[in-house]
Amino acid sequence: MTWTRNRRLVNALKLERFAKPRTSLRSMGVSMVANLSPFVPRRCYASGPESSVTEVEKILLDTIKATGPITFATYMQMCLSHPTAGYYMNHRNPVLGPQGDFITSPEISQVFGELLAVWLLSQWLSAGASRQIRFVELGPGRGTLMHDVLRVFSQYSFSRPAVKEVHLVETSRPMRAAQEAKLGPIAQKNGWSLHWHDSVDDVTPDAEMFTLVLAHEFFDALPFHLLQKIEKGWREVLIASGPDPAAGTILKSDGSPSLDVSTTRPLVSTAARFRQVLSPTPMPTSTLLGLSSPRFQKLPAGSRIEVSPAAFKISRKIGGLLHDKHPGGVRSAGSALIVDYGGSKVYGNSFRAFKNHKIVDIFHRPGECDLTVNVDFSYLAEAAADLATSHGPISQADFLLRMGMSARVSALQASAKDDYRKKQIQAAAERLVDRTGMGAQYQVMALTGKRTTEVEEREKWPFVDL
Ligand code: SAH
Repeated sequence: MTWTRNRRLVNALKLERFAKPRTSLRSMGVSMVANLSPFVPRRCYASGPESSVTEVEKILLDTIKATGPITFATYMQMCLSHPTAGYYMNHRNPVLGPQGDFITSPEISQVFGELLAVWLLSQWLSAGASRQIRFVELGPGRGTLMHDVLRVFSQYSFSRPAVKEVHLVETSRPMRAAQEAKLGPIAQKNGWSLHWHDSVDDVTPDAEMFTLVLAHEFFDALPFHLLQKIEKGWREVLIASGPDPAAGTILKSDGSPSLDVSTTRPLVSTAARFRQVLSPTPMPTSTLLGLSSPRFQKLPAGSRIEVSPAAFKISRKIGGLLHDKHPGGVRSAGSALIVDYGGSKVYGNSFRAFKNHKIVDIFHRPGECDLTVNVDFSYLAEAAADLATSHGPISQADFLLRMGMSARVSALQASAKDDYRKKQIQAAAERLVDRTGMGAQYQVMALTGKRTTEVEEREKWPFVDL
């Protein structure tokens, strides 16, 4: 049974270097760890001195002035990934510094990465353990998750020599530097090579190897388009500049009425300079995206959907990395785990911004707030459907518990040096599987390369109906 093997792998994990609490939690202070609240927005940052207009805001306002309203995709792309002033790209954002207080699952407990690693290891074993392994991670942040995964693979004499390459898809230079500092030593010690890429397109398919892909809190940061269904089809919701009446004129340019659907949410920012407007005419993007899933076509007029062509394209690319069509038939070239906020449906109103542990208006301090949108896992599965089989999504709680979290936590506690440490380990683990918070809000979906032979029941664990 794969379950039995999973359990054996979990029980065999070494303890000594693992029993330490996470540095980030330590730096947050003891009391915060002891009183972990069920769910705190994941990445929150202290703001710098607030000048009246942010750099990204100015660029966006100039763009709107010059060429008219912009899409939500442009807004998100600029806010997060403008080469110097974007949220992830700007080294001034204290994401990585001692005050950096973003909290994602791998940063909370090592158990998270270890159990993901056990699943990946199990996939490689099920495929015969004959091919060399390469890892691909999208948006690795500080490298914590990959480090935990690599430590697990380095512990077994059968997997350590099989690992060859680690590919990190990361656009942010400050993040890359953090990843190098974190992963360099373990890679060097084991003779594994590290590679960075701006895009997953730059990772060449190589079916001679077994590719294990990870994407944790990556898809939610990708640009999306906001569409609204009207009787005549799909229209794009755009962003115009706020008080400038010229924006309205632009929208009415074809003579049809501009349906202004602006600002349904309270503004936290006193300086919001943007508003939402509905494009009066169909645009190629809205028409194509509206047709991109049969699920969208069934929605009634008035529905809004957040659709990410970038997510579709990347999921398809992942499928391509896992798929191997060779003369003897189709065999799986690897497996992927995708973990994110969301579910198996399309969302219409999930776009939000975080700053200083709070949800703020989506137009607040562009470039200085984290932006996130729920992930439509069904869309990802549809994108890769002819290349990979999807499993789940299931909740993070189900995934971790079924993968043997309790056994692992007990083992860590047994080796902890005092009661305080034991409680810390317990509290962190409980937070990951809290069904009123992270345990339910985060979903885990797997993709396994399509193959000619049937996927056996035992290989589907933990993605099963119980
Ligand atoms: N996976 C990490 C970090 C999540 S933050 C964790 O869970 O802790 C999102 C990460 O994705 C950051 O490293 C960010 O720089 C990166 N990122 C965002 N958009 C990206 C894109 N389009 N291409 C590559 N990396 C991207």
